[in-house]
Amino acid sequence: MKNRLPDKKIALLIIIVSLAFFLVMGNYLVGQSFLPYTQADTEAKVDTTTRPKTEIKTAEASLAKTTKQVSDGPLIALTFDDGPSKTVTPVLLNELRKRGVVVTFFVLGNRAEKYSNIILEAYQDGNQIAIHGYDHKYKFTTLSDKDLLWQVDNTEDIVENITGQRPNAVRPPYGAINITTAAKIDIPCVLWNVDTRDWASRNADKVANHIVSHAKDGSIILLHDTFSTSVLGAIKAIDILSAKGYKFVTIDQLFAAEGVQFVSGTIYPEK
Ligand SMILES: [Zn+2]
Repeated sequence: MKNRLPDKKIALLIIIVSLAFFLVMGNYLVGQSFLPYTQADTEAKVDTTTRPKTEIKTAEASLAKTTKQVSDGPLIALTFDDGPSKTVTPVLLNELRKRGVVVTFFVLGNRAEKYSNIILEAYQDGNQIAIHGYDHKYKFTTLSDKDLLWQVDNTEDIVENITGQRPNAVRPPYGAINITTAAKIDIPCVLWNVDTRDWASRNADKVANHIVSHAKDGSIILLHDTFSTSVLGAIKAIDILSAKGYKFVTIDQLFAAEGVQFVSGTIYPEK
């Protein structure tokens, strides 16, 4: 009888220790797989709620700020659609940071939800975060008004929740847009004037050569940060063109430098 009480105590202790162990390990494992999303999401939410309203960057404020930073010289806006990619976009961000270069991302809502930490990182580096719709499944021109607004507004909300700034440009998937559809969207549509066809070649040298041979002041270059060849090609082109005096800017910065006003219902670049 004397020994039974300590036995029970030991058994209870083992159960408590085991439970604590599984609880800690469970949290650790869940934390490992979901930390990048939840952490960034929480930070972004905390950031926007604690930041005084007057300090929230408006598109206008950021335009005014960025205009000053843009120096003379031929300006090029590199734009990356369809991301972020878990593996490719961080490589691009790292290379851009090393060179002090900024670009514009036209992100998908469903990917932004998944990789909000990458969006936040890109935004904090000074890149512009614009949108490309929620899931890339449909051409905007084929959608009902309700579905069209959902693709756009929902993705705007997702990005704003991450960065604290509402996107001010959309690039419709496949570039499928017309005046009637553009008029239904509350933000301007921005297409491109140089198509690298990077998705077709999947060849870094071809991508780089295309950018270098078509580059001129005001170029808006279409790329995808879902292919590592596109990123390698873009970086190569940045190095070649930087040496020739070209400056790389966001769409916001390019339009500000050109004196182009962002107007909803308009399709840019205007022909
Ligand atoms: Zn796309």
